[in-house]
Amino acid sequence: PKYQSVALIVGVTGIVGNSLAEILPLSDTPGGPWKVYGVARRPRPQWNADHPIEYIQCDVSDPDDTKNKLGDLKDVTHLFYVTWANRVTESENCEINGKMFKNVLDAVIPGSPSLQHVSLQTGRKHYLGPFELYGKVAHDPPFHEDLPRLDAPNFYYTLEDILFSSVEQNNSNRAEQNEKNEKLTWSVHRPGTIFGFSPYSMMNILGALCVYAAICKHEGVPFKFPGSKEAWERYSDCSDADLIAEQHIWAAVDPYAKNEAFNISNGDVFKWKHFWKALAEQFEVEDGGFDEGQGKVSMVEMMKDKGGVWDEIVRENGLVVTKLEEVAVWWFVDMILGGECMLDSMNKSKEHGFLGFRNSKSSLISWVDKMKGYKIVP
Ligand code: NDP
Repeated sequence: PKYQSVALIVGVTGIVGNSLAEILPLSDTPGGPWKVYGVARRPRPQWNADHPIEYIQCDVSDPDDTKNKLGDLKDVTHLFYVTWANRVTESENCEINGKMFKNVLDAVIPGSPSLQHVSLQTGRKHYLGPFELYGKVAHDPPFHEDLPRLDAPNFYYTLEDILFSSVEQNNSNRAEQNEKNEKLTWSVHRPGTIFGFSPYSMMNILGALCVYAAICKHEGVPFKFPGSKEAWERYSDCSDADLIAEQHIWAAVDPYAKNEAFNISNGDVFKWKHFWKALAEQFEVEDGGFDEGQGKVSMVEMMKDKGGVWDEIVRENGLVVTKLEEVAVWWFVDMILGGECMLDSMNKSKEHGFLGFRNSKSSLISWVDKMKGYKIVP
């Protein structure tokens, strides 16, 4: 066959989905040559259009739409699940995210008999607990994959349980029908705060900070750190979106990665006080640093009337037209910079053979360059 593997990326315009869409079709990607399908609800944006993939507009929270559009693709061998929905309470998150994932599995598993692997992205909240219990139930860091589940609702646990039971069900069906008895495998990927490109992401910290820097520059005010003293001074880490995509692809093709969960972070640490300076330089805005007197401030509050200012910045700089609330999700900045970053361990991933890493400073600079290059930010 022309293709060795066929990927279905659910969440193809998201922060990791867009990286997968860029990397999978490359000629030297493991498991290739890859044919790639990608799913999201909105029409395909221009910044995603260069990737040689088949774009499918589908709302996976709707079981009929999912069955219609994903049920008869027939040739999918690898499913990459990199999407989610955000509701008010964690029990609502469990319900909606469970439904979405189940809709996809119920359409793709029977529809694509050569499906080999399901790669599910969750995250560090596996160890921290849901947003609503932040700081109250977390394990003691550095987090490793063998820690038991927390005694608190968590949509990541719901997703894992759906994954495990669907795979098990499918494998017992296959054992009855297929004499070769090839088993469906899975992997779970747990990034921390992701550094990446997507202007359609529900959580893109760098995107939001670039927009904040551009607004400060436009208004002629210093670029002040809105977070806590702990976040400013202590160690933080991050997970580069391309590195996460590389780990997904590694797990999809490497036998040592099958049926395991893996943390995924860059492998170094940084301090926001150092990265703040780098960001200020990128946007030629005065580095306002951390204001001891002022302390932590709410970006949600600070930015609530800035929609018009952003429209003006977009117009003046000839940027791709976006709404402020699309490109900058302020509650997420408040969440990440409001507390202390708790680190994880990459030992398990390395012991299983994934040795990928990123220099977080270079990662930051390259994503900012890419956002500027695609005219998302000035
Ligand atoms: P993003 O928010 O970046 O992207 C979501 C993608 O899914 C978009 O392409 C979106 O496009 C699409 N999408 C959303 N809803 C639907 C739907 N109903 N049907 C079809 N497509 C849909 O995703 P992330 O990569 O951030 O999230 C994946 C996982 O990673 C989540 O569990 C998240 O908690 C976790 N994570 C994320 C971190 C981060 O910093 N971003 C950090 C740690 C973990 P459209 O809106 O057009 O449909």
